[in-house]
Amino acid sequence: MEARIICLKSDLYTICDLETKNIYYAKASGLFRYKKTSPKVGDIVVYEILDDKNAYIKELKPRTNDLVRPAICNIDQAIVAMSVKEPIFNDNLLDRFLSILEFNNINSIIIFTKWDLLSKDEEEHMNKIFDYYQSIGYTCLKTSTKQNIFDNNKIIDFIKNKVSVITGQSGVGKSSLLNNLVPELKLETNDISKALGRGKHTTRHVELINIFDGYLADTPGFGTMDFSGMTEIDIAHSFKEFFALSDHCKYNGCLHLKEPNCEIKNKVESGNILVSRYQNYLQFIEESKNLRKW
Ligand code: GDP
Ligand code: ZN
Repeated sequence: MEARIICLKSDLYTICDLETKNIYYAKASGLFRYKKTSPKVGDIVVYEILDDKNAYIKELKPRTNDLVRPAICNIDQAIVAMSVKEPIFNDNLLDRFLSILEFNNINSIIIFTKWDLLSKDEEEHMNKIFDYYQSIGYTCLKTSTKQNIFDNNKIIDFIKNKVSVITGQSGVGKSSLLNNLVPELKLETNDISKALGRGKHTTRHVELINIFDGYLADTPGFGTMDFSGMTEIDIAHSFKEFFALSDHCKYNGCLHLKEPNCEIKNKVESGNILVSRYQNYLQFIEESKNLRKW
């Protein structure tokens, strides 16, 4: 029998049978202590039932991806929530999320929140940014919890039957958005984690909540949100559109810095690549160099 681990507290797992959807509390076999990997949230496990509430985890299935912080694996996608205003739209943080997720083989969906706050001029500007990220292959949605004229409900189609993490700075409106979609959730706004039993005084843990026949975990970020595990070429590859165009750079393994005949720099100059994307890229490369100096 197989189940998905949806929660881990101390050494007690909550697992959900893949077929029956029955929930059990489970301990892991002592054998895991001798292996390098121990079960974590998101894992698909082989288990045995002990009684109607308790079970025993015998074996782990291979993971499709694996994050350390938050400790979660087998994620189908990440939903990156970015406010267009209040807090001000932060392209650097967005590119940072996308780069780290790309490196971890996790697809991202970008939700531009608080779209109602934009004036006409600001909306025109944000639309260009929105269209750009869409054009390089990210699904983008506009949302507002104050006016129900945007893409709020489309989020459900993406969550359905998938395991997702939702991430983004606090204050961008994640809890408000989820409450709008699932009023029973009753998440405390300003901090989604409170509703998941993670107030200031309890130990932080990850948990998959079951909504719209899928699972959702919330996380403020990934690891230290720096590029410590990534080489410069990893960073170059994690910028989707750079990677797609890099065949046209003169040099194999071009890092799009000082190299001549670089397709990426040409496209930045001709206005086909967003200048902010390229600037953030340069900053990330610089950051990763500085990290390696230590
Ligand atoms: P979280 O920290 O990401 O979960 O953000 P919250 O859901 O707690 O929202 C933070 C603040 O932004 C609250 O005061 C919300 O009322 C407000 N807010 C959330 N969504 C929207 C929106 O779409 N439009 C506007 N104007 N305000 C919003
Ligand atoms: Zn190049």
